[in-house]
Amino acid sequence: MKASLVTLLAIIVTYMISFSTRIAFGMPIDALILVNCAVIPTVISMPVASYVFWQGEKLAEAHEALARAHAELTLRSRVDQMTGTLNRETFLATLEAMRRKRDTGTLLIIDADHFKKINDSYGHLNGDQALLQISSAICRAVRRDDIVGRIGGEEFGAILIAADKDDAIQVAERIRQEVENATLSLSEGATLRLTVSIGGTTSDFSEASLADLMRKADTCLYEAKRQGRNRVILDVARAA
Ligand code: GH3
Ligand code: MG
Ligand code: MG
Repeated sequence: MKASLVTLLAIIVTYMISFSTRIAFGMPIDALILVNCAVIPTVISMPVASYVFWQGEKLAEAHEALARAHAELTLRSRVDQMTGTLNRETFLATLEAMRRKRDTGTLLIIDADHFKKINDSYGHLNGDQALLQISSAICRAVRRDDIVGRIGGEEFGAILIAADKDDAIQVAERIRQEVENATLSLSEGATLRLTVSIGGTTSDFSEASLADLMRKADTCLYEAKRQGRNRVILDVARAA
């Protein structure tokens, strides 16, 4: 279609140039000129214009495919392939960006309890399914704008945006309960009970370094494990 339009334009321009030069030089306009003015631009312009437009379309398609691949790669580089939550690097970068912007919130570290035993007793594939159950339970329990990432093998992080201690305790408890309710069905009709321990810090993001925030949440997680697991502990001070 576009090539036909270009060809039509070429024919019109050829007629205009031929007629005006012939008139200027006092030459007659005969039948051969009329035919040539239509045939020559058609023979030249039609294939050339078709080829150029075809190449243009191919280039546009390649460009679109490249843009799609780029978007896909960007997403893949930010997300943990197994759970679909943010990967460790992106989670920590998000926390660091919030710290710099002086945003407020609570950092939680959520660790699956006795996960090695799950792998050892029921196999790695069931272990993977259990991890998926845990990550979706966490995502169900947090609020819409909160941020969830997988920061280690069976360890997740959550940034509860603008949450003070009361909000954080509520959300962390909800996570703990969601995981507890999300039992994994195994073959042979058996079910596997899952639990997590949660440590967290409500320290002002901007007043501690990233490492300090992670250390504080980790200390609480350790305390939750020490006290028997399947529990939430926020803001315990580190033992001297
Ligand atoms: P604790 O309650 O003290 O956290 O005990 P734990 O067994 O969960 O902790 P430990 O650090 O001893 O073991 C973690 C286990 O998690 C060992 C590792 O094989 C398993 N794990 C880590 N990543 C994955 C994964 O992607 N898939 C599976 N199936 N297992 C994983
Ligand atoms: Mg664990
Ligand atoms: Mg762990």
